[in-house]
Order: sequence, then C-alpha cells, then structure tokens
Amino acid sequence: MPARLIGLLIAFVLMAHGSPAAAQGAADPIRYTLSFPAPHTHYVEVAATVPTGSRPDVELMMAVWTPGSYMVREYARHVEAVTAADPGGRALTVEKTEKNRWTVATGGAASVTVRYRVYAREMTVRTNWVEADFAMLNGAPTFMTLPDGMMRPHEVAIEPAEGWSRSITGLPEMPGGEHRYRAPDFDTLVDSPIVIGNPAVYEFTVDGTRHYLANVGEAGLFDGARAARDLEVLVREHLRFWGSLPYDKYVVLNVLTSVPGQIGGGGLEHKNSTLLMASRWATRTRQSYLAWLELASHEIFHVWNVKRLRPVELGPFNYEDEVFTRSLWMAEGVTDYFAELLVHQAGLSTQGEYLASLSAKIDEVQTTPGRLVQPVDLASFDAWIRYYRPDENSPNVSVSYYSKGAVLGFLLDAEIRLATRDERDLGDVLRAAYEQFSGGRGFTPEEFRAVAEEVAGVDLGSFWASAVEGTAELDYDEALDAFGLRFRPVAAPSSDRPGRAWLGVNTRNDAGRLVIAQVRRETPAIAAGLNVDDEILAIDDFRVRADQLATRLDQYRPGDEVTLLVARRDQLMEIEVTFGAEPPREWSLEVDPEASAAERQRRAEWLQQSS
Ligand SMILES: [Zn+2]
Repeated sequence: MPARLIGLLIAFVLMAHGSPAAAQGAADPIRYTLSFPAPHTHYVEVAATVPTGSRPDVELMMAVWTPGSYMVREYARHVEAVTAADPGGRALTVEKTEKNRWTVATGGAASVTVRYRVYAREMTVRTNWVEADFAMLNGAPTFMTLPDGMMRPHEVAIEPAEGWSRSITGLPEMPGGEHRYRAPDFDTLVDSPIVIGNPAVYEFTVDGTRHYLANVGEAGLFDGARAARDLEVLVREHLRFWGSLPYDKYVVLNVLTSVPGQIGGGGLEHKNSTLLMASRWATRTRQSYLAWLELASHEIFHVWNVKRLRPVELGPFNYEDEVFTRSLWMAEGVTDYFAELLVHQAGLSTQGEYLASLSAKIDEVQTTPGRLVQPVDLASFDAWIRYYRPDENSPNVSVSYYSKGAVLGFLLDAEIRLATRDERDLGDVLRAAYEQFSGGRGFTPEEFRAVAEEVAGVDLGSFWASAVEGTAELDYDEALDAFGLRFRPVAAPSSDRPGRAWLGVNTRNDAGRLVIAQVRRETPAIAAGLNVDDEILAIDDFRVRADQLATRLDQYRPGDEVTLLVARRDQLMEIEVTFGAEPPREWSLEVDPEASAAERQRRAEWLQQSS
C-alpha cells in the first residue's frame, strides 16, 4: 500500500473517531429526516442525527425568531416528545435546560439521533402549516441545531405523506434520490422554506437561470400561467435594475389560501426564494392582482436589498435574541418604493395605478398621528416591540417604517435627480451601496448615508436629521415640482358645503354592537373623552347600531353638539361631543397640468417603461 494512501486512511480513521479538529470542522453534517405519518393532525416528525464530537453530552437549540420578521416567537413551544438514541437504538437521556435548549447525554456515541414532533398549524410566512394536502415548513420553527455547530452542513431528507408527489425549496438538491437537500450551514437551512405536496409548478428562465413559481391551492381560481408570465417580466426588470442575478435558481412559493382571522397575505424574503401568502382569488380583480405583483416584486427586490446588501446588524444572526437595527426604513421602505416602481417600469401597471399606489403610502403616513412622535429610524429599532406587537394606541405613537420608508425613497429619488441635474438617481445609490456592502459585512446607518451623499454630490444632513432621525412634517414641494406632480386639489369646506360630521374613531361590529376600536389624537372623540371599547348605544336618544354610524353621521354637520349614550364596562353614561369636519383626502397625486417641459421630461424618465 503506498504511503500516501496509508496517510489518507489514518486521517479517515481519526475523523471517524471524532478528533477535536473534526468536531470543530464543517465535515460532519447534521442529518434530518422529515416525515408526515398523520398530516391531517398537523404534525411533522423530525429525526435529527447529530455528530457529538465524542463529547459526553451535546446541547441542541431551537431559534426563537426568524430573520425578516422581527419578533420573538418562541418556536420551541410547538415542539413535543423529544427523545434521543444512540446509533444502536439505545435510549439516551434528554434534559430540557432552557426554553429553547435540550441537553442529550451521548453515552460516548459518535452521533445521536434526536426525534421530536412539531405542531404545525399557524398559517403565516414565518411559521409552519401541515394538513392532509400539503406541508409548508420554515427552517426556524422546524430544525434544532448545535449552537456551536451552525457552520456545518445540514442535510434534509423528506418522506412525503401518501399522495404527495413533490417537494420544492431553494435548498441545493443532493444526489441519491428525490426529496434530498443539503444546506451548507444552518443560516441557509433557516433561509429556505420548503413546500411539500402537489403544488402547480411553473418554470421559466431569465438570463440562463431557472425560476419556479409553485402555487399551493390554485383551486381553479388563481391564474398560475398568467402569474408566471408576469413574474418572468418582473424578474427581467429587476435584472435590468441591478445588472445581474446573484443566485443559481429562484423559487417563489405561493401559498393560496385564507383562514378567517389569521391572514390577509404577506411575504418573507430569502436569498434564493420567497414564501408568499395570498388569496386564491388574487388574479380575479385588477386591484388584487396588482397587489400580488407588488408583493412578489417586494420580495424579489429583497434578493439584493436585505439578503445581500444589508444593515450590519442583520447577519450573522443570533437566533436566540432580538437583533436591533435602525435601518429597516431603508431595508423595507425603500424596497417597497422600488417594488412598485419596477412593477410599473416593467409595463405591468399604468401611470395612474402607480401614482395611486404611491399616494396611498403618502396618505398612510400623513394620516398617522404617530408620524409626529416616532422617528422612522426608531420605528425600525422598535420593530420587535411595536410594529410586530401593535395595539389600539399604535397609530398615535408610531409610524410604519414600510410606508414612511417608501415615501422617503420617493423624496430622496427626487432630491438626487435635482442635485445631479438628472445624471443620477436613488437606484444609483442602491447599486453603489450593493457594490460596497453586499459582501461579508453590512452597512451602518452612517455608511449608507455616506454612499447616498457621494452619489448625490451634496450634503444630505438636514434631510436625515428631519426625515429619518426626526419627526418634522415631510416636505413634498420639491419632489412634486421635480416630477411635475401635485396633490389633487380638494374643495375647502364652506357654509353651503360644510362637509361631513366627523367623530374620529374606528369602530368594530361586535355581534351588532357598535364598539370603539381606536381613538386617534386630534379628533372630536378624544377631546370628548370617548374610550377604546366604549359601546355607542345612541346619539341624542336615538339608537345607533353597528352598521348605522356612517349614515347617522350624514344627518349631522360639523360643529353640531350631541350627547352620546355609551356603555363602558357595562355602565351607562352620557358623553357630550362636538362633531368635527371629516378631513378631506388630500394626498392623491396627479400630474400637474402646468408642469414645465423639464419637469415633464424628468417624470417621463422616472416612470419610463422598458417595454
Ligand atoms: Zn420586506
């Protein structure tokens, strides 16, 4: 036997017996098997074979949150029946040591197999769902890992339930048969949701790269072929914007469903896939289809902005603690700005539809009292305790980093075009930042601002101080002028057109009872002392039911004084209210008929369609 071969054999034997070097190395994967013996009971069964590195015990960890969704979710609460065995099948002791950690006594075995069940019945893009027809699994709520071994490969073999033919995910496929995948590390496993069942799969190629749209639950309603065609057009537009596709394949997992009270839709971004949730009726009306395209566009834009060009705090991830960043207005809001702009530039929405989308964002910011309380960078920082945990007072004290961030994208885009005499725009800022920060390390807020200033060639300090770090009212004049736009004029109230009487509450219909759900600042309701959860029984001695408030208010005028009979925790009381005037909808963008030629030209470039 040649000496070289003997040397190799010795190395192999050392590795097999778990030398310290091998324990630290990336060589030994964790191997998971997923099975669904009774999917109608909403369980996935997990068997994880974990190398021990010859340690007397190993500790396993489950993530408490998942990237892209900034809230501690305590995924371990859905884990049950945790057991462990050595390779000979002998039972080992498992002890729970933290809310999301378990310690297994290895008995000296080179590997242990840990088995557990996960209850999977929460229909969101960041949780799990298993039922008779399909499974939708995310990494964070499914897989335990070694807290000190996350860099090693994590392999997944799936045993589909009876009648399920297909599994689809962004994970790299592994040789050795169907339904086998290999993540190079735990981050990739967490970043790759999996759908198993019988989805309708559409395939297309952009720039030589495979793309898949996998629809679960088309039900003869969702037009998958049309969605795939438009998705291809959209991906080409994103490619045109960024210059290249940074993945080998891209998978859109599109779960079409609706569970009353649980979801309205949404998406979660991943490096080479996205999980979307939408109504199966989404392609049936123009409005809902545009919303679906904008959702898909948002998640595709994240392939670059967030998954690669990222705030410095967002990776490598600590899966057991909150990760705070002040940059979500850029990561989410600016993404939203371009998501909708690219749908338009791809030729999938009209100019009027695009301006309506942007107007809706401006309207949301301008009618949220919290815009004057919470700076948008702080809204980002507090996402964990505010955006993801809203209550009835949220609109009064916080602002959405999605909508305000998108509006800031619009304002910055205009500012940069003006400052550079139309040589550069906000897209150039993102591409320059991508060049600089899409490698190992992300950007700090100061670094992103510096890139923006470099592209703009001007100091953006006052914009940042007031719009990003401050709570001043946003100034739209410059951006409107730049693009030859204006807000559609609304008629001021007058004595012959006084407007509608206004109370300023949001209400809910609680089995026919008219109950106050939200009381906003600067409204007649808060001035009068109306409270959330007050039930409005009558206005001036006349009964008003849940579906009658709007028509009853039509009978009054701003300035009228009335007495409301309310029940507060079942106690009747009378409250005097002076109605205000319903605020006009004043944030609707339209083309300014008096725009100059230069402004019209700039608008044409901004909204130019590539086909
Ligand atoms: Zn997003």
